[in-house]
Amino acid sequence: MEKAIIIGAGPCGLATAAALQDKGIEPLVIEKGCIVQSIYEYPTFMQFHSTPDLLEIGGVPFVTPNDKPSRREGLEYYATVVRRRGIRVRTYEEVKQVIRREDQTFEVHTEDRHGIAARYETANVVVATGYFDWPNYLGVPGEDLPKVAHTFREAHPYVGRKVAIIGGRNSAVDAALELYRAGVDVTVVYRGEELTESVKSWVKPVFLSRAEKGKINMLWKTELLEITPATIIVSRNGTREEIPNDDVLVLTGFRPDRSFLRNMGVQTDPETGQPAYNPETMETNVHGIYIAGVVAAGSRANVIYIENGRFHGQQVADAIAAKSSEQTV
Ligand SMILES: Cc1cc2nc3c(=O)[nH]c(=O)nc-3n(C[C@H](O)[C@H](O)[C@H](O)COP(=O)(O)OP(=O)(O)OC[C@H]3O[C@@H](n4cnc5c(N)ncnc54)[C@H](O)[C@@H]3O)c2cc1C
Repeated sequence: MEKAIIIGAGPCGLATAAALQDKGIEPLVIEKGCIVQSIYEYPTFMQFHSTPDLLEIGGVPFVTPNDKPSRREGLEYYATVVRRRGIRVRTYEEVKQVIRREDQTFEVHTEDRHGIAARYETANVVVATGYFDWPNYLGVPGEDLPKVAHTFREAHPYVGRKVAIIGGRNSAVDAALELYRAGVDVTVVYRGEELTESVKSWVKPVFLSRAEKGKINMLWKTELLEITPATIIVSRNGTREEIPNDDVLVLTGFRPDRSFLRNMGVQTDPETGQPAYNPETMETNVHGIYIAGVVAAGSRANVIYIENGRFHGQQVADAIAAKSSEQTV
């Protein structure tokens, strides 16, 4: 019987694992992808907006000469944490179901990439599954065409093409600038009339300058109506416009799989998707199931990130250790 199983080897799941180790508990982490899969899926040449000290977990220093680490440095750093702290991680194994037993322990059912099922027993479960399960679909006709993607990796595949980006947050702005620098013809379609506060302060002026000079075709207060094989159709100032187009990047964010928590008996707010939990212990309404990281935010994913979500692990570890010592007494 495991003392704790952590679902998800993102930065916050790994921070929880290290905090539990500090309490003398060796957790098992189960991850459906690779270690820090979400960071692995960031755009290839992305830089964090956080400084390295704010991304550190498990007491392992994040050493880099750069003020803002790159994605690659982030991947190396979190892999180093796993190695140095000796955290047990089972990668490419997805948790399918968590069943609470009568004696208040849990069965965790998993499946690997070959469809091979496994079952684990544990006294506590920590859900650290993040929010990158499903893209926020726009629901417009043509969104399922092969020219449409909901993630951006790098500019090269788009060279020589007309690309439309839908969205106005960091991911859209970063992708637009990278594509522009590669000489791609970029149009940004955005419903708002100005960029949000959350857009990185050092990137915003660069983007706005390119937009004002018409180097990036910025369509403010514009809604995407339809995607066709050779165009996009938008509504702008009440007028319908058809714009020639080769590729569409819908960069409007992601949301977590709410049914995953609900199936464990964890209550979630029907509007925000936020799970019910005690903010001191991070324990959910199901005794013995805890949450850590951005999954605690429901669909408001921009309120929890690595900088603050990494501290949930300490709260979880304190609560599990206190419970274990009560049971021993
Ligand atoms: C481009 C980009 C740049 C960012 N830059 C920053 C930054 O500079 N600073 C900052 O603080 N934040 C940044 N963030 C946000 C940050 O990436 C997230 O807040 C962070 O990844 C959340 O960590 P987490 O451990 O809660 O979840 P995640 O990192 O999403 O980890 C969850 C893990 O759970 C796994 N998982 C999910 N379901 C299952 C299952 N059923 N079974 C097994 N495993 C499962 C997933 O594969 C994943 O590896 C950025 C995000 C993006 C997209």
